[in-house]
Amino acid sequence: MYSMEAVLGAHQKRNELLTASSNPLAGGVAWIEGELYPLAEARIPILDQGFLRSDLTYDVPAVWDGRFFRLDDHLDRLEASCEKMRLKMPLDRASVRAKLVEMVAKSGIRDAYVELIVTRGLKFIREYQSYENNLYLMVMPYVWAMRPEMQMTGGPAVVTRTVRRTPPGAMDPTIKNLQWGDFVRGWLEAMDRGAVYSLLPDGDGNITEGGGYNVCVIKDGVLSTPSRGVLEGVTRKTVLEVAAAKGYKTVVDFVPVDALYHADEIFICTTAGGVMPITELDGQKVGGGQVGPITRQIWEGYWEAHYDPKYSFAIDYP
Ligand code: PLP
Repeated sequence: MYSMEAVLGAHQKRNELLTASSNPLAGGVAWIEGELYPLAEARIPILDQGFLRSDLTYDVPAVWDGRFFRLDDHLDRLEASCEKMRLKMPLDRASVRAKLVEMVAKSGIRDAYVELIVTRGLKFIREYQSYENNLYLMVMPYVWAMRPEMQMTGGPAVVTRTVRRTPPGAMDPTIKNLQWGDFVRGWLEAMDRGAVYSLLPDGDGNITEGGGYNVCVIKDGVLSTPSRGVLEGVTRKTVLEVAAAKGYKTVVDFVPVDALYHADEIFICTTAGGVMPITELDGQKVGGGQVGPITRQIWEGYWEAHYDPKYSFAIDYP
C-alpha cells in the first residue's frame, strides 16, 4: 500500500487535479506583513536584513495528502533557532499554526511545501535594542529535492573535494539557516563531476550533510548518520524511528567519509523529497547500484508515517 509506485502514483494524480484547478492560490500563497498574496506576486521589503545579510532563521514543514506532518516538531526547532539567533517571532505559536492551516486550506494544495522565515527586520544588527523581527510564510506545491522518477532508481552524488561544510564554530548548523555558500559550491562541483548531489566533509575526515538534506549510511544492517556539523533533521528523526521500529540498529555519531565508500546503501533525506536513495558515489556504484532493500523499507515506512495521527493531522479544505 505504501510502495514507491503507489505513493508516487497517488501524488501524481493529486498533482494533476491541482494543476487543473482554477483557484488563484493553487500555485502557492504567501503571507507578508499581515496580507495574503498569490505566491508569484509576493514581494519582500528590500531593506530586510534577512535579504541583505541572511540575518534570519527558517523552517520547512510539509503537508502530505491533506495532512500536516510533524508541524510541532518543526515549530519547536524554529523556536529553538530563533532563541539562538535572538530573534522573536512576531506571532505566537497558536496564531502561526492557525495561519498556516488557513493558507493551506485556501490554496487547496494537498501536498505542500511550507516555509516560515523569521528575519531580523528592517534594521541592522547594531541597532539591536530597537528592531522588530519579520515573519514571512509561504505555502506552495510540494518541492522534490530528488524528483520522483529518480527516486525509483536512485541519484548520483559526490563527496566534495573543493569545499568543506562551514564548521559549527563559524555557523551553528543546528540553527536552520540560509548561509548556503558552501552548499552552492558543492552543487557546482557535483555538476562539474557529472553528479547531482553533493555531500560535504567536515575537513577532519567525517561526512556532514548536503544542501538541504541529511545523509544516512547503511552497512551490515546498521544505519548511521552524522552527529555533528549538521541540522537535526525532522525527516532524519522519522527515519531513525522507522528504522528502529523495523528492527535495525541506528547510530548517530561521527561518520567517516571512508564509511560511504564501503556502504551497502546510502540515502539522503529531507522534508522536501523524503528518503532519497543515492546509488552512485564519485562515479562508482553504491552496493549493487540499485535502491537497496533497507532504503526501500524505510522509504515506505516514512510515507506510511504521514498517515499516523501521532505525527500528522488532517486539514479541513473548503
Ligand atoms: N540539512 C540541511 C542543511 C537542511 O537545510 C535540511 C532541510 O532543509 C535538512 C538537513 C533536512 O531537514 P528536515 O528533515 O528537517 O527537512
